[in-house]
Amino acid sequence: MSDSQHSITIANREIPYMLKVSARRRTIGMRVDRNGLTVHIPSRMPRREIPAMLLKHADWIENKLDQLATRLDTDLPEMQWKQGEGLNYLGRELKLELKIGGLRSLPVVNGDALRVCLPDPSNSVALKRKVLSWLRAQALEDFTRRIAIGAAQLGVKTPPIKLSSANTRWGSCNSKGEIRLNWRLIQAPPHIIHYVVAHELAHLKEMNHSAQFWAWVAKLCPDYSAHRRTLKALSPSLHLL
Ligand SMILES: [Zn+2]
Repeated sequence: MSDSQHSITIANREIPYMLKVSARRRTIGMRVDRNGLTVHIPSRMPRREIPAMLLKHADWIENKLDQLATRLDTDLPEMQWKQGEGLNYLGRELKLELKIGGLRSLPVVNGDALRVCLPDPSNSVALKRKVLSWLRAQALEDFTRRIAIGAAQLGVKTPPIKLSSANTRWGSCNSKGEIRLNWRLIQAPPHIIHYVVAHELAHLKEMNHSAQFWAWVAKLCPDYSAHRRTLKALSPSLHLL
């Protein structure tokens, strides 16, 4: 095993990384934490292939570094996947309540708790996977319902919706009229989700941010400007997951 410091330029940004070479390793691995980017490679991998490999994962690396910067800026602690830890769901805090149970059983909201069953509740990787997959399913159900209601109010056909996990935007609407919403929004209070949905639906009427566009947003969501500010302020905490 040998460690060395290198750097790569991604989107005009010089990114230092620690290269760890190991004879025992068979696969490439990357990690971003408080020490920055660390790249693990098997010793048989030619070094000249490293830049191309990193550029292939440029989006992932940039996203992770931005997430990290947000977290360090705001001093928000990283979520711990364990009993009693708080999780934001529709603007409320649910405490994780872990039980021994089957891997396939779905998490259940029980008062102020989210009850999650796992064969081994101390397995934080399995816990995280199960909770995130539940959150995504809740997000899809919630957003789909809101989109259908809003589309009817605007008098447009209900557009197809997909979940995204883009780091820089909460929602988007393309020229084909498909709407993407970030699943992390399911952590936010309902009126904030409502604003993002209204914003993307209004793009079905106006593909710009003109006064006419904002008038359509206001039709669905009269208090949109307050909600827009709240969403900005909430963003770092919604990106902790
Ligand atoms: Zn927009």
